[in-house]
Amino acid sequence: MSIKFIDVKEAVLKKGKHYMTSDYKTRNKRNHNGIDLIGENRTTDDVIAIEDGEVITSKYSQTAGYYVEIKHQNNYISRYLHLKKGSLKVKVGDIVTKGTILGYMGNTGNSNGAHLHFAIYDNKRVFQDPLPYLLGTKILTNDPFKEFVSNVEASFQTKVDGIPDFETLDKTITVSARINRKHPVVKHLQKYLAYLGYTEVGPVDGIAGPKFTQAIKHFQTDNNCVVDGILTKKNKTWQTLLKLL
Ligand SMILES: [Zn+2]
Repeated sequence: MSIKFIDVKEAVLKKGKHYMTSDYKTRNKRNHNGIDLIGENRTTDDVIAIEDGEVITSKYSQTAGYYVEIKHQNNYISRYLHLKKGSLKVKVGDIVTKGTILGYMGNTGNSNGAHLHFAIYDNKRVFQDPLPYLLGTKILTNDPFKEFVSNVEASFQTKVDGIPDFETLDKTITVSARINRKHPVVKHLQKYLAYLGYTEVGPVDGIAGPKFTQAIKHFQTDNNCVVDGILTKKNKTWQTLLKLL
């Protein structure tokens, strides 16, 4: 493939410009279990942690070269391969936060030219396409509130970082059984309401029907909102859900 710029929300290169030289493929002959990244104009860069976690690997292997693995809160693992010899900045057991420098991009192991091979394992050690994690449409944490906020941000196309802000609030729309009942945000609302204990919301089916209205009313009652079963900014239900009051 040709070099492709990726507008990442979650960086793994410190300078923040990410160009993909090889994408994730699991079905064709050239099985590639991660994506290859370089900086702008093929420059190298510091490699940073995509999300908080614990370092579980920091060593050399013949194929991976110098590499680091981080285990995240949801037990997914991010992997950073082919780092430069002598550049590893973390050791096994270190607790790192998002953005911590792990090492420097290199050409060690089975690599042709300096690049970062970035990969993600799920909690069963099955490779996942890492691109949605870089784009912020999937996240490496099981903090339900942060996940909910990230999903809301992705639904309304604001900066996806799991931290509620007024830009996101401004973009929210009215959701009810009558208006926007099939908006993509509905399934995230259903999942989060169920997590909060409003189990009457029913299955996560993406449709705001009578059960959804009931759960919203219950939430509004518990949080001293206007109880109308409609999710708007005007009745402060969105603010309450996003903890922006
Ligand atoms: Zn690769």
